[in-house]
Amino acid sequence: MVIVRKIINHLRKLWASFQLWRQPRYHSIFIEGDLPNSLEDKAIYIVQEDGFLWHTSMLCPCGCGEVIHLNLIPDERPCWQLSRNQDDTISLFPSIWRTKGCQSHFWFRHNKVHWHREIPPY
Ligand SMILES: [Zn+2]
Repeated sequence: MVIVRKIINHLRKLWASFQLWRQPRYHSIFIEGDLPNSLEDKAIYIVQEDGFLWHTSMLCPCGCGEVIHLNLIPDERPCWQLSRNQDDTISLFPSIWRTKGCQSHFWFRHNKVHWHREIPPY
């Protein structure tokens, strides 16, 4: 029975990797000034001024339609760290966990959403 459980666990991880691989990447949209009135799906907006990052916003990836705003100003809490990757994508640290509404919890790495309970972030 132990071997069956191991095989099932392995298949689950393979399935999660496959789902992640086929997920389209988000577009990174760097803007100066105000956010547009409605945000595009599968897009992450990085609001900056003179190269200084203010905040990032995106539609909640669960599909609930809520807009998630994340502060990038180090002096304010809570604060997320945005890193620009060599493949022209961005990653955010730490994870994003909505405390109200849908309670989605995910990591944003290399312009993809990694649900917290599925696979660990890389
Ligand atoms: Zn949601």
